[in-house]
Amino acid sequence: MTAALMDAGDFDALVVGAGFAGSVCARQLADAGWSVLVVDARPHIGGNAFDTRDDAGLLIHPYGPHIFHTNGKRIFEYLSRFTTWRFYEHRVLAEVDGALHPIPINRTTINGLYGLDLDEAGVEAFLAERRTDRSPACSSEDVVLNSVGADLCEKFFRGYTRKQWGLDLSELAAGVAARIPTRSNDDDRYFTDSFQFMPADGYTRMFERMLDHPGITVRTGVRFARATTPKPRRQLVYSGPIDQFFDYCHGALPYRSLRFEHQHLAGTERFQPTGTVNYPNEHAYTRITEFKHLTGETSAGTSIVREYPMADGDPFYPIPRPENEALYQRYKAMAEQETGVSFVGRLAQYRYYNMDQVVGAALAASARLLGREDAA
Ligand code: FAD
Ligand code: UDP
Repeated sequence: MTAALMDAGDFDALVVGAGFAGSVCARQLADAGWSVLVVDARPHIGGNAFDTRDDAGLLIHPYGPHIFHTNGKRIFEYLSRFTTWRFYEHRVLAEVDGALHPIPINRTTINGLYGLDLDEAGVEAFLAERRTDRSPACSSEDVVLNSVGADLCEKFFRGYTRKQWGLDLSELAAGVAARIPTRSNDDDRYFTDSFQFMPADGYTRMFERMLDHPGITVRTGVRFARATTPKPRRQLVYSGPIDQFFDYCHGALPYRSLRFEHQHLAGTERFQPTGTVNYPNEHAYTRITEFKHLTGETSAGTSIVREYPMADGDPFYPIPRPENEALYQRYKAMAEQETGVSFVGRLAQYRYYNMDQVVGAALAASARLLGREDAA
């Protein structure tokens, strides 16, 4: 057993993972008077939302771009205890046939791509003519064909999805492509949520404040293994992969990974016109993000990241498709038999959760532990 876990039995709660799931639970339990030990296998807190300064001094997201957006006022207010915010609305362009067009597809996209000058009603009619009826929409392919038809599907979705997931659109659950709406107006924001902000001093600083509590002890670089860790006095909160917790006894749950290629361009003040540019068909990477758009920082150079999807590596994305859900349900049934263990977060619940959804899940889980129903 790792020495750093030998005293786990001296704490009311052991929280595995210092990302959103673990940190929110830790804070909620500590606020209620529990003593909490938080461990993370990585050398830092924040999970995948961790941010840090690169060698050029710019704030970057080592695990890919994280943009906070939510319709949950309570979630926004909860996080506002630990950070102030910078207003930021994310915009994304996609490179198709050598030109950049807004994604989600909107009026500008249709007019630019096909050399048209349609008004909103014209765009609606244009899409209505091209849409293929695939209801009920069971797969992501159905969703895209239902909303924009075959040509736009090939140009914007099929190649990107193949790269990102290593699967065809038809092999992925409807919810994946349903994340991307279609618009007939000129709204070119990636998200339309009521709250769209970046933490003013970065995510890591927000996590530091969340975990800065006399009842919380944080140890990074510490890997939890169930078999060798003493049980905490009251509760284990686990936010790692659920299949790993159970030693893969039903087989490994598929996760998709990424390789991040970070680059600082010393002489380039602005690399691209929007925070992210997607490459649905060209290149092995799916997208390039320029952090200065997200952070509002100014400097003579700029820092970018390219994302290369990978089959192996850190588990970044659960892969939503029916057979994986069935396997997850087998692990979930085991999780429900455990006493004194909560499974919370994107990996532990095998859900394609955004950050705000993980905060919501963590607030609900900690409220249940504290015998409150008010934080769900
Ligand atoms: P994680 O952040 O994965 O934290 C789990 C932690 O547990 C990890 O730090 C891991 O090291 C630790 N751990 C696991 N197993 C063990 C173990 N055995 N022992 C010790 N520690 C362990 N969401 C948005 O809302 N907006 C975005 O723009 C956005 N962009 C994203 C971009 C990318 C490339 C990715 C991959 C995700 C993005 N997300 C975004 C989703 C967001 O990252 C997640 O919703 C959120 O970070 C999940 O938090 P979590 O605490 O559940 O998991
Ligand atoms: N997608 C696509 N083309 C795009 C953007 C998204 O095909 O230009 C599809 C793709 O399958 C992607 C999914 O929609 O994985 C969800 O996109 P999102 O930007 O929400 O992915 P994330 O930011 O979570 O990686």
